[in-house]
Amino acid sequence: MTTATDPAPPRHGPIRLGIVGIGKIARDQHVPAIMANPAFVLAATADPHGSLDGVPAFGDFAAMLAGMPDLDAVAICTPPGLRAGIATAAIDAGLAVLLEKPTAATLAQAEGIVAHAAASGTPLMATWHSREAAAVAEARGWIAERQVAQVTITWKEDIRRWHPGQEWILAANGFGVFDPGINALSILTEILPDPVRVETAHIAIPEGRAAPIAARLALVSGDARIAADFDFLQTGPQSWDIRVDTDRGTLVLSDGGATIAIDGEAPRRADNGEYRALYARFAQIVADGTSDADLAPLRLVEDAIRVAEREVVAPFAF
Ligand code: NAP
Repeated sequence: MTTATDPAPPRHGPIRLGIVGIGKIARDQHVPAIMANPAFVLAATADPHGSLDGVPAFGDFAAMLAGMPDLDAVAICTPPGLRAGIATAAIDAGLAVLLEKPTAATLAQAEGIVAHAAASGTPLMATWHSREAAAVAEARGWIAERQVAQVTITWKEDIRRWHPGQEWILAANGFGVFDPGINALSILTEILPDPVRVETAHIAIPEGRAAPIAARLALVSGDARIAADFDFLQTGPQSWDIRVDTDRGTLVLSDGGATIAIDGEAPRRADNGEYRALYARFAQIVADGTSDADLAPLRLVEDAIRVAEREVVAPFAF
């Protein structure tokens, strides 16, 4: 996997990109990353309510396609349940496609998108932004020279702070606490040399909701045992930590992969350019006509939900 952060130079003029879903992540991360990359022009948005000053806006993807016949690419930043239908239509229209995580609502939908893009020769990028966090590549290199014994993931954040009012996230297809948890799993599957599989899981679903508010997973990878603790009700300090115990020392990734500490040394933190890196790579993928779609994190979530013991817990309101 490349982690280049320098924008690729445009080949035949900038890529005319539309964003579908102008919500929190599109505004916080996609728009600034696109604006900072001369390989792209933000040509249009599609969203039932949202729009950006100075950018042609449409109410949905079909209207955007009809109104902007010269688009080259689309970034799909809707809730995940809508992703497969929009991606399929975008591929049919010949647009290169960037998918926010999680790739789709189900593994079968994601595999369908990947197969459709391959059959159509359409560039496709299924993004995992946390894999671009500053310290992930160093962690992968350090781990590659050691035997991993144990991994401990603590991924605890406040749903009200990071997903205010997002009712969809606790609905069917919303992923619940696996929406942030899949970020941890995307790092895990990037830094460990062996495939990861789920052994057991316990998920807690608020009464009247469809998706979990907390989950505990036991996973394995080669001889390594992995424990993951995901919680969406963490007030106070937020935890996005992965501790890796090996035959020759311990590594701790924290702040979602931005900070690294090895063998008790002082933690080193680097600025996160996650979305700048994603768009630099997307520009390259479009230029090369290739695809990048690793579905391993989505497969782990699907397996965890399938094997999980379920517990109904107190109702949740934003
Ligand atoms: P969000 O704030 O709810 O944004 C989603 C946007 O999509 C909303 O503006 C929504 O409009 C719009 N939308 C709904 N149906 C649509 C349709 N048919 N066509 C076009 N737009 C439509 O959610 P978000 O936090 O940005 O999350 C979106 C995705 O990004 C999720 O998969 C999430 O995992 C991922 N992500 C989020 C974060 C984060 O920190 N929030 C970080 C990384 C990745 P309405 O609100 O009017 O329905």
